[in-house]
Amino acid sequence: MHVFAEDHAPHGHMHIVFDNVRVPKENMLLGEGRGFEISQVRLGPGRIHHCMRSIGQAEKALDLLVKRGVSREAFGKQLVWLGGNVEIISRARIDIEAMRLMVLKAAKAMDVLGNREARVWVHMVKAMVPERVCQIIDQAIQMHGALGVSQKTPLAKMYASQRTLRLADGPDEVHHLVVGRSEIRAAESSVDDVSETMVWRS
Ligand SMILES: Cc1cc2nc3c(=O)[nH]c(=O)nc-3n(C[C@H](O)[C@H](O)[C@H](O)COP(=O)(O)OP(=O)(O)OC[C@H]3O[C@@H](n4cnc5c(N)ncnc54)[C@H](O)[C@@H]3O)c2cc1C
Repeated sequence: MHVFAEDHAPHGHMHIVFDNVRVPKENMLLGEGRGFEISQVRLGPGRIHHCMRSIGQAEKALDLLVKRGVSREAFGKQLVWLGGNVEIISRARIDIEAMRLMVLKAAKAMDVLGNREARVWVHMVKAMVPERVCQIIDQAIQMHGALGVSQKTPLAKMYASQRTLRLADGPDEVHHLVVGRSEIRAAESSVDDVSETMVWRS
């Protein structure tokens, strides 16, 4: 099994063929038809955990980006002062801090409200963090030029790993679907409340 052109077997991802496998009944977890519940229990904290690690990757990428930008000159200036690089650095820092607060809020919601009630928060961070972190790593690669895609920095591997995270534990679109749908339903129920009030008033 290759992930982003890297051979992942046997330590990472692999294809497993189940050929005529029989599993004893007493090995069943939780109960018949309840497999999805098990995966749901794992997915909430798992997604938050992925986002925490992604923020660490963003910190690393920004650190490398700035260090490269101040240590290399082109056209008589440090790279950081060329083009829109100051703003790229500023936006990355602002977004890392915003992501950190969002993930903290999602984790707090999970502690206080529980898995089910906190799920929209979990979907929000999973929709936002890997996509933005991918972009920050991409910008760090750009600041390094050819070095950024070589084996001399960890950036290429970091990018591949973040990019797959936009699929693993659900693609971005599905997380946006949950967040958007929850927003629309809340608006619809408040519209219902208003129309009920209007009927009552009339
Ligand atoms: C490195 C890696 C590790 C993984 N690890 C695990 C794991 O540990 N456990 C596990 O269970 N799975 C794991 N997965 C699988 C992952 O959860 C699925 O790949 C992912 O949910 C997408 O499903 P799919 O590949 O079948 O694509 P599809 O379901 O075919 O989706 C393809 C594309 O269609 C679009 N799409 C799908 N649904 C919607 C929608 N509702 N609205 C809008 N667009 C949509 C999206 O763009 C999506 O990327 C892993 C995947 C990768 C790449």
